[in-house]
Amino acid sequence: MHDPEVLRSLHVSRFKYEPEIFAAPGRVNLIGEHTDYAEGFVMPAAIDFATLAAISPRDDDKIIIYSENFKEERTFDAASLPKHGGKDWSDYPLGVIAILAGEGHRIPGLSLSMLGDVPLGSGLSSSAAVEVATALAVTSLLDIDYPRPQLARLCQRAENEFVGANCGIMDQFISANGAANHALLLDCRDLSFKLAPIPASVALVIANTMVKHSVAGGEYTSRRAEVEEAAAVIARHRPEVRFLRDATVDDLDKWGTEMSPNALKRARHVITENTRTVAAADALIRHDLKELGRLMSEAHASYSFDFEASCAEADTMVMLAHNLPGLIGARLTGGGFGGCTINLVEQGRAQEFAKALAASYASETGIVPQIHICHASSGAHKIVASFSH
Ligand code: ADP
Ligand code: MG
Repeated sequence: MHDPEVLRSLHVSRFKYEPEIFAAPGRVNLIGEHTDYAEGFVMPAAIDFATLAAISPRDDDKIIIYSENFKEERTFDAASLPKHGGKDWSDYPLGVIAILAGEGHRIPGLSLSMLGDVPLGSGLSSSAAVEVATALAVTSLLDIDYPRPQLARLCQRAENEFVGANCGIMDQFISANGAANHALLLDCRDLSFKLAPIPASVALVIANTMVKHSVAGGEYTSRRAEVEEAAAVIARHRPEVRFLRDATVDDLDKWGTEMSPNALKRARHVITENTRTVAAADALIRHDLKELGRLMSEAHASYSFDFEASCAEADTMVMLAHNLPGLIGARLTGGGFGGCTINLVEQGRAQEFAKALAASYASETGIVPQIHICHASSGAHKIVASFSH
C-alpha cells in the first residue's frame, strides 16, 4: 500500500482541505473458480496492494474526482449525476456515488482523490478496491454506516449497473470484509462467511502469465450456458436442484448421459470445486497445508481438463512452480484463459521462488512474467492519521 501521507498532501495542495483517508485492498482467489454463479463457495484473500481514497467536503455542488494513477481530474454536478458510465476510469468511483444517490442519499459537493498500487487490469481487482474505498469514504462523509456485506453489494451494483461489467460479488466482498492473515470462505448463496487462518509463514506469490487469450469473453458465456444445461438436466429428476451448488457427483453418474459431453465436464468441475473449496477452508483451519496444496493441484487439473479454462502458458506456470522448493500449492486463479496463477509458498523461500519461477517461465515461453509476493491483509478501513504536520 502507498504511504497515505503522499495522498494526503496531494489532496491538500489540490483541494485546500484536510481529508479523511480510507484504504481498500485488491484480492486473490485461493480456490473456488466458476462456482459463484452456481451459488457455491469461493475462498479469496485480501492482499497488501490497496487503493487509498481521500475525501473532503466542498463549498459548492461539484463532485471532483482526481486519480493520481491517471493524473487526471473529472468534475460532475452532484445535483444531476449520470445514470451510466462513460467508459472512463471515473466510472468506478462515480458509479458508487450514483448508486448511493439512487438509494435516496442526498450527495453533497465533495472532493475525492485516489492513489492505488493494485496493478490495473491484472486480475487483482483494482476495480473493487476503487469502489470499496470510494464507498467507505462517501458513506463516512454522509455519516451513514452500511454493514460491510451491504457495502459490498452496493459496490457490485455500481460495477454491474453503472460501469456495465458483469462481475459477481466476490471481489467487492473480500475487499470490504477481508482480515489480515486470513482467507475468507464465502457462501455466494447467502453471503455468510467464515475466516480461515493463513499462517504468517506462508506467502501468496501471484504470477502473471502476461497473456489473456481473446477467446475469454465468448468462452465465459458458453461455459455458463453449459453449467446451466447440466443443472437443468439434474433438476428434471431432482426439482430441488436449482443450481449446481445443490448437485452431487452421484447426480452426474445417474443422469450425466442426458447431458452434452461438455455440460457433463463443466458440471463435474463446478460440483467437485465446491467440495474442494469447503475442504480447503477446513484444511487451513486445521493447519494442514499439505492437504491445501493437494486440493489446489486437484483444482487446477479440474479447471484445465474438465472446465477447459486454462491455457498453455498457465499450465506451464503451474508446472514450473511444482519443480521449485518451498511450494505448498499452485493453480490458475481468476476467470481463465490466462491471467495469474496463485502460489502458496513458504515465506522464507518466497524471494528465491519468485526469481526462479520468473526465470524458468521466461526461458520456457519467451515471456517475462510479473510476480508479486503478497500476504493476506485486512479489508477496507479508515486510515487513522499519525501525520506530522
Ligand atoms: P482489475 O479489477 O482486474 O484490476 P478491471 O478492468 O476490472 O481490472 O478494472 C480496472 C479499471 O479500474 C481501470 O482501468 C480503471 O478504470 C479503474 N481503476 C483501478 N484503479 C484505479 C485508480 N487508482 N484510479 C483510477 N481508476 C482506477
Ligand atoms: Mg475488476
